[in-house]
Amino acid sequence: MNTQTTSADGSSAADVALIQIAPGVHLAQIGLGVFQVPPDEAQRVVEDALEIGYRHIDTAAAYVNETGVGAAIKASGVPREEIFVTSKLRNGDQGYDSAFRAYADTCERLGVDRLDLYLIHWPYPSAGLFVDSWRALTELAADGRVRSVGVSNFLPEHLDAIAAVSPLRPAVNQIELHPTFQQPHVIEASLAAGATVEAYSPLGQGADLDAEPVVAAAAAHDASPAQVILAWHLQRGYIVIPKSSRRERMAENLAAASLRLSEEELQAITALDSDARIGGDPATFAMTQIR
Ligand code: NDP
Repeated sequence: MNTQTTSADGSSAADVALIQIAPGVHLAQIGLGVFQVPPDEAQRVVEDALEIGYRHIDTAAAYVNETGVGAAIKASGVPREEIFVTSKLRNGDQGYDSAFRAYADTCERLGVDRLDLYLIHWPYPSAGLFVDSWRALTELAADGRVRSVGVSNFLPEHLDAIAAVSPLRPAVNQIELHPTFQQPHVIEASLAAGATVEAYSPLGQGADLDAEPVVAAAAAHDASPAQVILAWHLQRGYIVIPKSSRRERMAENLAAASLRLSEEELQAITALDSDARIGGDPATFAMTQIR
């Protein structure tokens, strides 16, 4: 299934596949991430993205830009039901009761009645609260107060722990994933838990763009290195949420949906896997992301 969005400036939003992540819930395989988009820029960035044809926006309470994202959704004129909005429970709000409160606050900042997807941002295992948080999210989902729920940065042991308290599978596990950091054991555990894999920092925050097989495939297809990396993700079945504040790069990234790499090119990029983690280690990451 493909989205039917027509692009205002020639990028190929219509080629972006929709992936079913929960019963009746479909998510465009390319979305816009807004980590590190400053609060006063978020509205402009998200309005640009919606105009170009993005219909999937990934934010978080910890990014402190939900208000700007919400303002863009309202100002865009795009019907709310056509935009898929993801946000995340920040570490400092973990816990059963506080997760309900945090969810309501997030919806208020975004100006929406409910989210399409709500994630536990990090397992934050030293706090010992992610299982309680998950119980709250499953209740939100059971009541229809959120369309789907999932997790982020969950390692196999964290996925096992939530499976033990609820039969509801996480719709996604959003993890750091790019050619030089692939975490195959986490991918395997996520799929076994019934979660679709969502790649964050899909471009390695730019660090993977110069890798030789990426540059070679870009030259062969008259594409950009970013498009090659995104096509690699898409052909492996991952959801991607590249961040850009620049309109032309947003369009470039969306157009990766129409690029097809050969099996040899895919394999050469897969062979770049190393231990080049950029973000926090979920086993120990404990920042409470004060806003
Ligand atoms: P990305 O891999 O998306 O890289 C973003 C960087 O690449 C920016 O510096 C951007 O610059 C640049 N860039 C974007 N497009 C292009 C292009 N076509 N050519 C060259 N450079 C480009 O990294 P992020 O860490 O931002 O990850 C993406 C999203 O994933 C986040 O915004 C967030 O939504 C999510 N995320 C989730 C985390 C979690 O814990 N769950 C953690 C980290 C990220 P510019 O803006 O100037 O174009």
